[in-house]
Amino acid sequence: MPGRAADGGEVPFRPATEGIRAGVEGSPGGGGLERPGARGQRQDIVWRNVVLMSLLHLAAVYSLVLIPTLVPWCIWGESLWNSYFLASILRYTISLNVTWLVNSAAHMYGNRPYDKHISPRQNPLVTLGAIGEGFHNYHHTFPFDYSASEFGLNFNPTTWFIDIMCWLGLATDRKRATKPMIEARKARTGDGSA
Ligand SMILES: [Zn+2]
Repeated sequence: MPGRAADGGEVPFRPATEGIRAGVEGSPGGGGLERPGARGQRQDIVWRNVVLMSLLHLAAVYSLVLIPTLVPWCIWGESLWNSYFLASILRYTISLNVTWLVNSAAHMYGNRPYDKHISPRQNPLVTLGAIGEGFHNYHHTFPFDYSASEFGLNFNPTTWFIDIMCWLGLATDRKRATKPMIEARKARTGDGSA
């Protein structure tokens, strides 16, 4: 999580290696000598990250390829090739291409109620396909808004996911554009369509 700086600005995320470097540089001897144990501590953190990344990778392989292949094959006797190519590879290909429509179709087709001078548009079909990412004119007009939409509880599963993560304590500091801010911007630069 980015922290608050004394002057109120955001402190960007600091990778673990920087903390170690700071610890080494702050050691007696002006940074030339490492604190005893610093190397071991650094190796511990590197290994912890390697293990974490491996687990995430395994989880991704299981959920993207293995589970969709095994479920039709084991449970209702689909052939292994059909399961692999249709339930796993075709499903993955479609979901990637629909996700990428956010940066193509949602820049070409749709209305621009928030800012008519930029190319991103509101596109309901992309919203449906990319589970809530098609409110693209809003997203580019208010890029800091975590919900990427004026209507947080409309069909917007990505917002629901972030809300659940907040509820679990894994995300904080959700930012939203205020209603007066949105209305003023619509009046000033919108195309009048909403
Ligand atoms: Zn865009």
